Amino acid sequence: MGVSEPPHTTILIQADAIAARVMALAAEIAQDYAGRELHLVGVMRGALYFLADLSRALQAEDAGALTFDWIELSSYRGGTESTGNVEVTRDLIDPVDGRHVLVIEDIVDSGHTMTFLVALLQARGAATVEVCALLDKPARRRAPNLQVRYIGFRIEDQFVLGYGMDLDERHRALPYIAVVAAKPE
Ligand code: 5GP
Repeated sequence: MGVSEPPHTTILIQADAIAARVMALAAEIAQDYAGRELHLVGVMRGALYFLADLSRALQAEDAGALTFDWIELSSYRGGTESTGNVEVTRDLIDPVDGRHVLVIEDIVDSGHTMTFLVALLQARGAATVEVCALLDKPARRRAPNLQVRYIGFRIEDQFVLGYGMDLDERHRALPYIAVVAAKPE
């Protein structure tokens, strides 16, 4: 039995296309980090399934020692756009100093959230910090210096949900990524 779409949405990226892209990203990451121990830092809550699938794909690539941890961030949104006022609402458990950290994020929009997190991880002494985002909305970028090393899909300026991403905390568990017809306030 299929999963029905929430009202006023259409599917943007099907589950099998997500799975194929996750496998390709894992192959690229495994090659880049060969010989180094990789520590994934997932951003709650949107990156839940992306980290779950990517970490297992990395394991299948025999990427070596692999660990992960979670952080939850909140960014005050003035209207639909996030501001630079990002806060840690649930912190990491493990220290990151001396580790090769790859941040796993659902979507980079203005880039404020990732700019804050990369600076935080660098300040805490990570050996290297890179960002892997499932989705990127380049048209919305307000943080020009942010480098996103791995990107699953570049999308237009649209509000998306599913595969971990929410609309008012709902629809995260949809297996595909859908787009809302009209942007919610
Ligand atoms: P930024 O700081 O880059 O502007 O915002 C990034 C965060 O905004 C993402 O982690 C995500 O929580 C949220 N966000 C941005 N665009 C979308 C979207 O289209 N759908 C959902 N569900 N969240 C979004």
